[in-house]
Amino acid sequence: MRFACLGSGSQGNALLVEVQHTRILLDCGFSLAEVTRRLARLGVDPTDLSALVLTHEHDDHLGGMARLARRHRLPIWLTGGTFRGLEALFQPDLEVHMVRGFEAFAVGDILLEPYPVPHDAREPAQYVFTDGARRLGVLTDAGHVTAHMCRCLDRCDALVLECNHDAELLWSGSYPEPVKQRIAGRLGHLDNESAAALLRRVDRRRLQHVVAAHLSQTNNRPELARAALSVALECTPDWITVADQDLGTAWRHIV
Ligand SMILES: [Zn+2]
Ligand SMILES: [Zn+2]
Repeated sequence: MRFACLGSGSQGNALLVEVQHTRILLDCGFSLAEVTRRLARLGVDPTDLSALVLTHEHDDHLGGMARLARRHRLPIWLTGGTFRGLEALFQPDLEVHMVRGFEAFAVGDILLEPYPVPHDAREPAQYVFTDGARRLGVLTDAGHVTAHMCRCLDRCDALVLECNHDAELLWSGSYPEPVKQRIAGRLGHLDNESAAALLRRVDRRRLQHVVAAHLSQTNNRPELARAALSVALECTPDWITVADQDLGTAWRHIV
């Protein structure tokens, strides 16, 4: 099992997960041309994809997903709530599958375990990807940490974890007050310390990779996210990978 981030942050998010010949793209917050270019950087052609999965309808995740699906005849998985706002975009020519009741489903060699998160979208879902033996947990776009979220992310071999902002940088920064309140609110985004608190609550014994994701370019710095997570993990800061907005990450192998 291996995974790579194509780019992460408020300008666009996408994550590629591969098990054998199954490749799933989680979110597509880039244009069709841009996502094609970023896939090529990882040695993947869009025709190599098995399915697209959408976490929620916000633009930084949705981007060119419908165009990518249409161009390459790729099926899309999403919750009913996410679909309801997008019916005009996902016309009947597209193969759309509903994630119902956050029940697990399989795409080829990958089993996906969706779970709900508190975020200001219609029915946001985040995912654990597993091949039966190894588990990759993904969590972005959550306003606060829930007990259910921690249960879902227990015993993962790799985690991609939102570190949206540093609380001090956000509150001392130039964003308008209502925007600050939305970001820091219970339906907004996780800050570095909340992500670190989540790491302290889950069973971390199998962790091989931790990727800090969805960093705000205004309200965070890679070294602040690394510092917060490394204290929780009792590791050196350079062990933590930070997913870059432009470069994403290279492939990470889960062994
Ligand atoms: Zn987002
Ligand atoms: Zn969002």
